[in-house]
Amino acid sequence: MNQRSSYLSVLLDIVAPRSCLLCSQFLSHPLASALEKESLENYLCSSCRNQLEICEHPFASGRLSQVDKFFSGYQYTGSIARIIPAWKYHHRNEFFPLIKILIYLTISRLNLPESDFNLILAVPLSCKALRKRDFNQALFIAACSSSILGLPLVAGQLVKNIHTPQQASLDRHARAYNLTADTFGVIDPEVVRDRKILLCDDVLTTGATLGTVAGSLKGAGAASVTALTLAQVGN
Ligand SMILES: [Zn+2]
Repeated sequence: MNQRSSYLSVLLDIVAPRSCLLCSQFLSHPLASALEKESLENYLCSSCRNQLEICEHPFASGRLSQVDKFFSGYQYTGSIARIIPAWKYHHRNEFFPLIKILIYLTISRLNLPESDFNLILAVPLSCKALRKRDFNQALFIAACSSSILGLPLVAGQLVKNIHTPQQASLDRHARAYNLTADTFGVIDPEVVRDRKILLCDDVLTTGATLGTVAGSLKGAGAASVTALTLAQVGN
């Protein structure tokens, strides 16, 4: 069986060669016996995997107004700083399964207690940003988290009322002034009232966005807001 798996792996390498999503280095197919186990090795070479820096010191939630607890998977440096922009801004669809694995690894490593949450939400994009990007990266992360944790996801309840300049294009001070309490709204407060919410986003930079959204959720009656991002800038 192992020999047959090995032959199949070699055959696949010839007829359907694959390469690292970041540096294009050749990636050998996994043995057939391991095909069902989707892993980082299927998408990144060892060098690019080694440049994933796990977030050991997440932002203290005290620095994020209205956020009760904060968790993040990776530091926004090395490979993750190349993966997220390629996925988010350059419409590289092949990155979706990789992002799903990174979220799975993050949630598994953090061992998030399911009892701490009973509703998952995503930081919304404005309609203009959504039209430009075609998808909300935070919603994809929230959907992955919902599937992994077995908790309900509610989409479309949080809205971004006005289109603000993209946070990533602003410096630290401008980011804080770019958002106000009215920037985000909750359509039906009953949906979030007394709920323990896991709020998902892709990257935390200053925490201005997460803090503002968490404030809107608390204003609508949410019992608690825990934030989870795939990556954080600095700490
Ligand atoms: Zn690589």
